[in-house]
Amino acid sequence: MIDFTFTEEQEMFRKAAREFAETMIMPKVAEMEKTGDVSQDVVKALAEADMMGITIPEEYGGLGLGYTERLIALEEISRVSVATAMMLQVFALGIEPIIKFGSEETKKKYLPGLATGKRLATTAVTEATGGSDPTGIKSSYTKDGEDFIVNGRKCFITNSHIADTITILAKAEDTPKAFCAFVIDENMPGWKATHKEHKVGMRGCNTGELSFEGLRIGKAQLLGAEGKGLGVTMAAIGDVGRGGMVGTALGLQAACLEESIKFAGQRILYGKPISFLQSIQNKIAEMKIDLEAGKLLGYRAAAIQDAGGRSSNEFAVAKYYTTEAAQKAAKMAVDIHGGYGCMEEYPVTRFWRDAAVLGPSAGTSDIMKVIIARWAMS
Ligand SMILES: Cc1cc2nc3c(=O)[nH]c(=O)nc-3n(C[C@H](O)[C@H](O)[C@H](O)COP(=O)(O)OP(=O)(O)OC[C@H]3O[C@@H](n4cnc5c(N)ncnc54)[C@H](O)[C@@H]3O)c2cc1C
Repeated sequence: MIDFTFTEEQEMFRKAAREFAETMIMPKVAEMEKTGDVSQDVVKALAEADMMGITIPEEYGGLGLGYTERLIALEEISRVSVATAMMLQVFALGIEPIIKFGSEETKKKYLPGLATGKRLATTAVTEATGGSDPTGIKSSYTKDGEDFIVNGRKCFITNSHIADTITILAKAEDTPKAFCAFVIDENMPGWKATHKEHKVGMRGCNTGELSFEGLRIGKAQLLGAEGKGLGVTMAAIGDVGRGGMVGTALGLQAACLEESIKFAGQRILYGKPISFLQSIQNKIAEMKIDLEAGKLLGYRAAAIQDAGGRSSNEFAVAKYYTTEAAQKAAKMAVDIHGGYGCMEEYPVTRFWRDAAVLGPSAGTSDIMKVIIARWAMS
């Protein structure tokens, strides 16, 4: 039997996440929009509410919950602040390779600090020469005894200037098909955050570049087997990165729908609220259809993972569907607002800008289609 209901605990978790987002994050949104900077108050609040350790096992200080609960939290947080959901989603993306591929020593070293927000994580794969094609990266390593020496530069990295625990991918200088994934931290000289990006949306979520110059990494920092790092980072992006973007997109879709219904109920034309106009109702219906369909896709993929399976293909479908739907919903929400949809005091302008940033993160829609077609034809 297929059960489409959330458990009582999951419903309570959603209620708590919504309350948290509305009381602790919503008051900070205007400031984040204005400055574009990460709000330290938000980071502190996320840590105190245990939002950073949702999927970290309890033995390392996390909540030990599943992909479903993570999706619930991201959906509720993104409904209030897409930027904050993005920051949180990439924390988990940076943590996943440590949970799945780290040695016991590595887990004990990093996970307790990450679960409590004393440490902040990210993952750094993308480079100017390797986004959709990660094998095109130029960051390389050579061996010096048991150590690895890494040189290179990463771009478009979420949390670049706030993270101190970073999973990185580098290529062997002399064996181009061998990649290694490492976890690096603030105590290792030879890396720094450099350029900060100014994004069109998700203001309050930091994105930037990292540079590695003679970064010496001990063997203990290796994640997975030497030479097999591409699989380590791609597994995390497939399961956690795509899943996180689904939660982020669903929250934005919900926000677009709610604001549209609110505005349509208040705006009077021809002596009645515009919610009586068929064309407005059509847009609201389309948003609702996409939100319901996106939830089924996303939570199904999360449920497969929670049952011990792999659902990176299902997450590719959900990521494609929900991020495209969020962009469509944001455009419709702006349209429903008429001229007010161009005025910054209306949140739909922020939704529109945030929606534009959803596409490339964790793989573009074109790349999702490549993955989905491969799955369909396999
Ligand atoms: C806000 C934001 C946050 C991000 N955070 C991180 C992060 O924390 N860590 C990290 O490592 N990366 C991060 N990224 C990078 C992200 O993963 C890449 O931007 C993405 O993978 C696309 O790579 P690219 O930008 O190099 O585009 P390109 O790969 O250059 O793509 C250019 C165009 O070609 C298309 N294309 C490419 N290949 C194909 C194909 N095979 N078939 C059809 N079309 C194709 C693309 O869809 C796109 O339209 C982030 C990006 C953004 C925008």
